[in-house]
Amino acid sequence: MEKDCVFCGIISGVRPADLLYQNESLVIFKDIHPHAPIHWLIVPRRHIRSLNDLAEEEGDIIAEMILRARQMAKEHSIAASGYKLLFNVERGGGQVIFHLHLHLLGGW
Ligand code: AMP
Ligand code: ZN
Repeated sequence: MEKDCVFCGIISGVRPADLLYQNESLVIFKDIHPHAPIHWLIVPRRHIRSLNDLAEEEGDIIAEMILRARQMAKEHSIAASGYKLLFNVERGGGQVIFHLHLHLLGGW
């Protein structure tokens, strides 16, 4: 857990969030400022600043995040209509929360 990290705060239960799913390695909650009818964030429990900081041996978490996003889309009946998965990487890439996360946007 990283001091002053908003997502670490949510993961540890200090900050409120609309939690949709959690397991031992990741949590999923609603984005507070949605850019689509459905806008969720898939967030590893481990604090990793951005995709740039992911170690080679930590790569499995990316596959898990994407597969869990796919499963959530299916379970919430937004898979067939289509969705977007997005990583913003560092400031120039639009990242504002420096704890690795995957955006799931859909429900159109
Ligand atoms: P990014 O630009 O990729 O860093 O995205 C960060 C996202 O986190 C933005 O879409 C914000 O709306 C969202 N966000 C920031 N604070 C919170 C929060 N407390 N709960 C849920 N989503 C948040
Ligand atoms: Zn964090």
